[in-house]
Order: sequence, then structure tokens, then C-alpha cells
Amino acid sequence: YESKKIKSNAKLFVNSMEESYLMNIIIEQELKKAVDNHELFMVYQPQIDASGYIHGIEALVRWNNAILGSVPPDKFIPVAETSGQMLKIGHFIIDYTLREIKEVQKILNITFQTSINISVRQFMEVGFLTHFLNAIESAELYQVSITIEITENLLIEDIQYILPLLEEIRGYGIQISMDDFGTGYSSLSMLRRLPIDELKIDKSFVDTIVEEIAAQKMVQNIIAIGKNLNMHILAEGVETKEQSALLKAFGCDRFQGYYFSKPLLKDDLISFFQNHEKGQLIS
Ligand code: C2E
Ligand code: MG
Ligand code: MG
Ligand code: MG
Repeated sequence: YESKKIKSNAKLFVNSMEESYLMNIIIEQELKKAVDNHELFMVYQPQIDASGYIHGIEALVRWNNAILGSVPPDKFIPVAETSGQMLKIGHFIIDYTLREIKEVQKILNITFQTSINISVRQFMEVGFLTHFLNAIESAELYQVSITIEITENLLIEDIQYILPLLEEIRGYGIQISMDDFGTGYSSLSMLRRLPIDELKIDKSFVDTIVEEIAAQKMVQNIIAIGKNLNMHILAEGVETKEQSALLKAFGCDRFQGYYFSKPLLKDDLISFFQNHEKGQLIS
């Protein structure tokens, strides 16, 4: 009986391994045509400040493929990274986002902060900053209205390269946000040396903050560390009024999550701004 059980477990393991291995190969192949076939597009999730006004948006990529259907970025960005496709996709994300955001700002006659996720490979690519600056200029946006979101994973790379590049980016007025803070490779001594404007508290802390004292303490400590380093604190994945109220009481500056809005297509973002321009989203 035991050996039969081990055998069937092994088979299950092989099956799921093959499935994800094959799936990644299909993703890799399909991804090669995705940009040229116009299968990728962007959605924008509003970020709200502590007085309830819209601070800005985070741009999030979406992929609809004929065979695979809608593939979440968590699944295909890592494949793009390892299969050498991130540069092309990264350029698409930057150009498309800045062009659409310029349209939104022109139509509404306002400016707001635009956050773009930059993957590790994208950041490490020679010429990343040059392309980014050119794209901002082509879109006729202000450099200070742009934020890049990096993750703690970036810190595993050569810090002698990363640190001066981050300083240079900051020197252009572009803001730097540390995404998913508290989930990755973090060192407080490193955090102190980085030119970071904003810490994004990961959704996993927010998820349990109402029920768990431990999560509350963790979040309070993250906020204290960030504030001491003169950083803004954004809570991500806020889904309820209770979470929002608690995070605000703890001193969070900015909030993002389904409680305020899901990520929106450009036209829906315009409507969101029009409906909320004068109204407050939290009290
Ligand atoms: P992230 O940058 O931490 O983005 C936040 C994720 O949480 C997004 O998922 C967003 O849709 C989701 N989210 C926001 N509020 C809520 C909420 O209240 N509840 C729940 N359940 N989820 C919420 P998404 O769009 O699937 O993106 C997942 C990850 O994929 C992102 O995490 C980011 O790491 C990556 N990603 C997405 N777009 C891009 C992109 O344009 N470039 C790069 N390099 N990575 C991207
Ligand atoms: Mg992000
Ligand atoms: Mg995040
Ligand atoms: Mg995340």
C-alpha cells in the first residue's frame, strides 16, 4: 500500500511539473507574438491619499491570448524575464502607459502621479533609463509625475550598479517606490541607503490587519521605519472600510485596493476621476 501511495504521489508530482513546464513553454511561445498582435494592454488602479483625494494611479499590464485566454501578469512576467522578452514588453508597457495617461490628463486638464512597475531585468538592461526618459519626453509628461515601482528582489543584483542608477533616476525627479515591502530580501541597513520615496506595504499584511494583532504590530513598525526615513507609506490591497480606517489611524499616507477601485481601462479611469474629482473617497 505504501509503495503504491508513493508511486501515485510521484506521478501526481510529475504530472503537475510537466503541466507547468509545458504551460510555461506555451506562454513563452505565445508571448513572442503578443506585442505585435496587440494582445497586451494596460489598466490603471487609483491610489488615494489620506484626505481622500486621488493621488495617482498604478499601471498594471493585461494579456488576452486566443489560446490561453486571460493570463495574469504574475504568470507571464516571470516567463518574459527568463526568456529574454522583458525588454520588448517593458518598452511596450512604458510607451503605452505614458501615451494613455497623457490622454487622460489632457482630457481632464489635471496632472497626477503615474506609477509603473519595473521588473529586475528591465531595470538592469543597459539603456533602460535612456528609453524611459525619452518616453516621458515624447509623451510630454513631467518627470516628477512619474514613479517607478521596484521590488526588494532588485537588491540581490549588484548594488554598486543599482545605487548610482537609482540616484540618477531620482535626480531627474522621478519618484521611486518599493513594492511588496516586507515580503522579499530586505535589509534595513540597505533600505536606509536607498533613495526611496514610498514604501508599499504588501497586501498580505493588509489582509489580516483587522483580525491579527501581529499584523497590526508589523504594519505599525513598517510605518515607523518608513516615516523615520522620510518615506511615504502606501497600503496595497485594501478591500474593506475597516482595513482602510485602521491603516489611516496607524499613519498610512496612501491607499490602494478594491475598496476604492479595481484597476480600470483608460475610459473608466476618466469616469472615475470625473465622479470623484470633488468627492472624498475616505473620511
Ligand atoms: P503589484 O505591483 O504588487 O500589483 C498589485 C496587484 O494587486 C495587482 O495584481 C492588482 O490588480 C492587485 N490588487 C490591487 N488591489 C487589490 C485588492 O484590493 N484585492 C486583491 N485581491 N488584489 C488587488 P495584478 O495586476 O494581477 O499584478 C500582479 C503583479 O504582476 C504585480 O504586483 C506586479 O508584480 C506584476 N505586474 C503587473 N503589471 C506589471 C507591469 O506592467 N510590469 C511589471 N514589470 N510587472 C507587472
Ligand atoms: Mg506594483
Ligand atoms: Mg505590490
Ligand atoms: Mg504584489
